[in-house]
Amino acid sequence: MRGGMRIGAIFGIPLYIHPTWLLILFLLAWMYSEGYQNVSSRLALTSGLVTAFLVLGSILLHELGHSLVAKAQGIEVKSVTLFLFGGIASIAKEPKDPLSNLALAAAGPLVNLVIGSFLAVVAWFALGDQAILLGTADQTQEVISGLAVELGVGRALVSLMALNLAVFNIVIGLFNLIPALPLDGGQVLKSIVWKITGSRFSGIRWAAYSGQIIGIFTMLLGFSALFAQALNGIFFIFVGWFVFNSATVHLQYGRLQQALLEIDAESAMTRDFRIVDADMSLRRFADDFLLMQEKDKQPIFFAASDGRDRGMVNADELRYIERERWEQEDLHSIVKPLQSLDVVDLSTKIPRVIDMLEQKELPYVTVLSPAGSVTGIVDRGDVIRALARRLNWRIPEAYIKRIKAEGKFPPELKLTEITSQL
Ligand SMILES: [Zn+2]
Repeated sequence: MRGGMRIGAIFGIPLYIHPTWLLILFLLAWMYSEGYQNVSSRLALTSGLVTAFLVLGSILLHELGHSLVAKAQGIEVKSVTLFLFGGIASIAKEPKDPLSNLALAAAGPLVNLVIGSFLAVVAWFALGDQAILLGTADQTQEVISGLAVELGVGRALVSLMALNLAVFNIVIGLFNLIPALPLDGGQVLKSIVWKITGSRFSGIRWAAYSGQIIGIFTMLLGFSALFAQALNGIFFIFVGWFVFNSATVHLQYGRLQQALLEIDAESAMTRDFRIVDADMSLRRFADDFLLMQEKDKQPIFFAASDGRDRGMVNADELRYIERERWEQEDLHSIVKPLQSLDVVDLSTKIPRVIDMLEQKELPYVTVLSPAGSVTGIVDRGDVIRALARRLNWRIPEAYIKRIKAEGKFPPELKLTEITSQL
């Protein structure tokens, strides 16, 4: 979530607040103050505002629950942002094992359930059996004004506040445990399936399917409510749609990650390079190879001598050598040795290749055989082609060519982001 305003840091984690948060703060304050009106109209708005702050504080504590478990596992927490629909703790990477992931996911809802249970007990002590009635539905005028008479205004307000916060925390805690993937409960389900099957991707699939089903079910609930002329059906449709979409995105990300891990340099590489004799003179190289090439294509040359690959021919270097000397000097003088190139093995996984390409801003990496000779090259176009093959995407070769020419991954794939999570 971008566009938040930094308001400080907790436990070294930067805390951001999105402008939409203010909207929800006032909405909550207004909503809660309605109930407090029946205790004291003078203090209602202030009490509503205090409750709203504490409600949003509970959301912050939920995110801190996630964040502190992440930090305990040695995972960096980049930020916590509060926005319209709650909060997001932005975590650098996912835990490597299912139980750590389970702990991380469950920590947030657990914080709410602990706070909620504690406040429910407090409210029950203060309000007695009325707490159950007030907490579930009936904050009507008669019940609440009776409370003010019985307990006095101050105690009645504080008790009601505790009750409201208890209800909020328990509802939020339980809601987040629904096993649908954008929610924490989805992560919990994912971790459990991951633990049982030993496959993180099976976990993602199950939790995402579950999210899609729950999303559809929620939307259907919303539509049937609308048919019964209950306007809050719109809310359910919206939430269901959001859950369905996020689950689908998780599913696609999971497939993409799995595919990336299944591709190695060997299956992605091409042989779009030429091996030339390192002992040939610069003049001959320029005449026979450079001048013959097609204008739009910049071929890659590797030089070999005595049966060994020596390195990449850096044709740009020719410009710095006077033409009179092209006859006497050979390719060795413009060869960049293999040891100084960015090389990978045949079995190197593609996420590592993507990392190298992006971090070092390379046009391609060179693939070496176990014997140390050049067997292929992998550029961004080759990565996408291999990915498309694996996932049965129909991508025209012209599109691959464009990626090769531009030297950029399609930004919508978010490949760097995805590989950094692996
Ligand atoms: Zn959470």
